Amino acid sequence: MRNRVVQVALPLPARRTFDYQLRREHRAVREGSRVRVPLQQREMTGMVIGSATISRVPQRKLKSVSAVLDTEPSIPSGLLKFLKWAADYYHHPIGEVIRAALPTAMRSTRSMQPRLPTRYSLTSAGRAALRSLSKQAIAQRRVLGALEEAGDGGLPLDALTHLVARPASTLKLLRDHGWIEMYQNAEDFLLTAAKKAGPALNQSQRRAVRGIGAALSRYVPFLLQGVTGSGKTEIYLKAAASVVANGRQALVLVPEIALTPQLLARFQEGLGGTLAAIHSGLTDRERHIAWWAARQGLADVVVGTRSAVFTPLARPGLYIVDEEHDASYKQQDGFRYHARDLIVKRAHQDGVPVILGSATPSLESMENVRRGRYRQLLLKQRARGAAMPKFQLLDLGRLPVTSGMTPPVLAALRLRLDRGEQSIVYVNRRGFAPVVLCSTCRWQARCDRCDVHLTLHRRSERLRCHHCGASRDPPEQCPNCGQSTLHPVGEGTQRIEDTLQKALPGVRILRLDSDNTGNAAGLAADLARVRQGTIDVLVGTQLVAKGHDFPAVTLVCILNADSGLYSVDFRAAERLYQQLTQVAGRAGRADRPGQVLVQTRYPENVSFSRLVRHDFSGFVKAELDQRRLARCPPFVRFALLRAESLRPAAPLEFVSLAARVGHRRLAGQASQAVRLMDPVPSPMERRAGRYRAQLLVTSRAHTLLHRFLGDWLCDLEGLKRGRSVRWSLDVDPIEMY
Ligand code: ADP
Ligand code: ZN
Ligand code: ZN
Repeated sequence: MRNRVVQVALPLPARRTFDYQLRREHRAVREGSRVRVPLQQREMTGMVIGSATISRVPQRKLKSVSAVLDTEPSIPSGLLKFLKWAADYYHHPIGEVIRAALPTAMRSTRSMQPRLPTRYSLTSAGRAALRSLSKQAIAQRRVLGALEEAGDGGLPLDALTHLVARPASTLKLLRDHGWIEMYQNAEDFLLTAAKKAGPALNQSQRRAVRGIGAALSRYVPFLLQGVTGSGKTEIYLKAAASVVANGRQALVLVPEIALTPQLLARFQEGLGGTLAAIHSGLTDRERHIAWWAARQGLADVVVGTRSAVFTPLARPGLYIVDEEHDASYKQQDGFRYHARDLIVKRAHQDGVPVILGSATPSLESMENVRRGRYRQLLLKQRARGAAMPKFQLLDLGRLPVTSGMTPPVLAALRLRLDRGEQSIVYVNRRGFAPVVLCSTCRWQARCDRCDVHLTLHRRSERLRCHHCGASRDPPEQCPNCGQSTLHPVGEGTQRIEDTLQKALPGVRILRLDSDNTGNAAGLAADLARVRQGTIDVLVGTQLVAKGHDFPAVTLVCILNADSGLYSVDFRAAERLYQQLTQVAGRAGRADRPGQVLVQTRYPENVSFSRLVRHDFSGFVKAELDQRRLARCPPFVRFALLRAESLRPAAPLEFVSLAARVGHRRLAGQASQAVRLMDPVPSPMERRAGRYRAQLLVTSRAHTLLHRFLGDWLCDLEGLKRGRSVRWSLDVDPIEMY
């Protein structure tokens, strides 16, 4: 770079870059490299993202870059371009976007290359020495012998330390003699995958694989829509394997790695390459190594959760998103990106295909198919020939209900127990009971800091708030009337577990909810127990619904399907349909047929009748029609301005002011291209002690909305009132509260 001034992105909440000059010795620095720069009284790590010959900052005020941390860019130019696009699209500071994209270890001055595990291998001198070494040199002979046996790749340190009593001095001695060599190896941190042939693909799978195979060197977005159990994983694997065979890399996003061990296991068996998994269970160093291995092209396939969308690839060849409808792809605070939407853009920029897979794709993706933007690949049948599960609706208004369960549910569970088959009971709430109520005066336990009820948890005997995490002891007497007439009302997973334990003596139950799943390893072990058949009934929240493949499950009971039916959230029906299909899809995946019992107060609801008939396309069509009429996404773009404060009136005042400023900006424009809705308190107005308000901005035309938001945010950033509240903008919001 010949220029003397660089633009540096710093991890600060400012939508701008900072100019610095370069000293002569730093002139070689390139875009995408980290630098240390002075800012006020401190030094910070930032990234060079542009350059110029002169700066708008006057020369005497312009400070110099104090150190260059990366001699080659840590973020390759293609990825940097993508991050700039993302910052622009979401109107988020580029410095914070880059911060989100880098592994934590690289936020400091740490070098781009992580400290890697060490390997030792035998030199030819070492091989000769092994022949001539005296029999007394036991330790040395052992190490040399082991290395000879290991061959060219040598062995990692761990494999040698237990061979001898004093490994450090033995290894040093052998190195001093030039008998062994030491080198660093990232592959010890990667999973190496053999190439084991999977099942022979059926006709629809082959058609899908052929379709993808024909598009491997250009941007084509595929929507792989396959019913639960149709063998989508096999298609991801085949597509990834052929990309790897061509010397390129694939990036696979999954909602939650611990919940999809089968996908990782299947890739590990069948890929024939190296695999890096990026998930929350990794230490900072492990994450850094996986990131680096991807960037250097050492990992052929990277499997990761949401934030892995930012993983650099040396030779990008394919992007995949499993369960593309899953809401966990949306980051809900800070930099509020949607990983599925971003990955499509990334594939577009890289000129490679992207596969979005789901049994129940998002309406956004379905609409993209209808408009011809995405190419649809359909798998209508289950791969192993199993029938789709049979649904039956149970009317909660007509049947007797004890502890949340109707007699047919208990009878069906009992039948599976007798037959030695497994069942899943899906409850949408964790804890024991969602409400504690006084039957004398109707007092209810509520959170002091949020506008919600407290949930009673029995194992810990605490009342907990599921929104802010506050907890306290349950009162003995009603704090309002003093009577001992407090009762838990409604059912959470714990209560269902207790009830089943009593109703079905000897039943082996596993409860799966976020209270119960401490870490990824524990969860994986639990899921393995289900597969081994040492569990009869799995009780849980959404966690039981994710893509598990449990062949012995023949019954799924959904205890209360109604929570999403009449909600303020326009996506509620879509989410409910997806969730129920997902959990129902766990039933009857192998040779025995599956049954799904759905308890509801509204058996006549049209969404249910479509669910029962497995009529997803009917559901999509009707729902899209409604969205069009109601002017909701995907026909209209949304952006949500949120504000919160400890002072009750401040948030609404701020969003009201923001609305006035916005109207002034729009006043000049003839058309109604961008609309501002009314400023309102958020549906849950108080959360964690803060009052909240919001303002929805909508537009049919993305570019107009985008331009408006850019100008409007500049206005808002200049408002003094804005400093007394916390505010943020969410482009394409998923949660509307
Ligand atoms: P999905 O992700 O579509 O729900 P999976 O990929 O988990 O489905 O596949 C469901 C089951 O079917 C798995 O056990 C898988 O090994 C098996 N399977 C996939 N394809 C085939 C095939 N062509 N023949 C036989 N079994 C298959
Ligand atoms: Zn009372
Ligand atoms: Zn709370």
